[in-house]
Amino acid sequence: MENHAKKILQILNRNFLPLKWEKKDRDPFQILIATIISQNTSDKNTAKAYENLSKRFKMLSKVLANAEISEIEECLKVAGLYRNKARVIKHISKIIEKKFGGDLKSITCLPFEESRKTLMELPGVGPKTADVVLLFAFGKPTIPVDTHVNRVAERLGLVPKNGNYETVRKSLQSLYCPEDYLRVHKLLISLGRKYCKAKKPLCLECPLNVVCPSKKMA
Ligand code: SF4
Repeated sequence: MENHAKKILQILNRNFLPLKWEKKDRDPFQILIATIISQNTSDKNTAKAYENLSKRFKMLSKVLANAEISEIEECLKVAGLYRNKARVIKHISKIIEKKFGGDLKSITCLPFEESRKTLMELPGVGPKTADVVLLFAFGKPTIPVDTHVNRVAERLGLVPKNGNYETVRKSLQSLYCPEDYLRVHKLLISLGRKYCKAKKPLCLECPLNVVCPSKKMA
């Protein structure tokens, strides 16, 4: 299995580099808000909603904690579930102000599992959102499992079929070294967007068809 995983990473590296790697020191609050907006929303609409929000408000918890819900909603209208997301963003901003003095960076001093648990205690923050913040803002060793990562990893035979979030995350992590987690996460997403699409995977064109157990070449 490790050779299979290694081969997949080699092929992905060859076919998708150079990717624009996200800086690891991005602001955790901004990453958190962007990830909440992205829930059940396309990348394009997430980007538009985040842009609207960041143009209207300074992206600080103290600002969003005091913003009018209706104004946050207006910015998020392009994203799905915008009413609910607006409430979560205001609520979470208030908690971050009160509990963390407006700065989530204090979480980074905690051991990994504790920092993850602390983030998941915030409203609207599940394992994926917590993992995105931990990986992208703090460079912590975790592989967030979004819909692309889950589908592609399963089709490639890297993780058990129908595994839950933790099974998929831990299975993937066991196959790669922590320094590669960010790369693996981003490359699997790139593969899912370009070739391994949910409804009609483009197996004939996919660079991984030589090693993929789920390829359909007809
Ligand atoms: S060969 Fe097909 S199923 Fe396998 S990873 Fe590529 S697109 Fe997905």
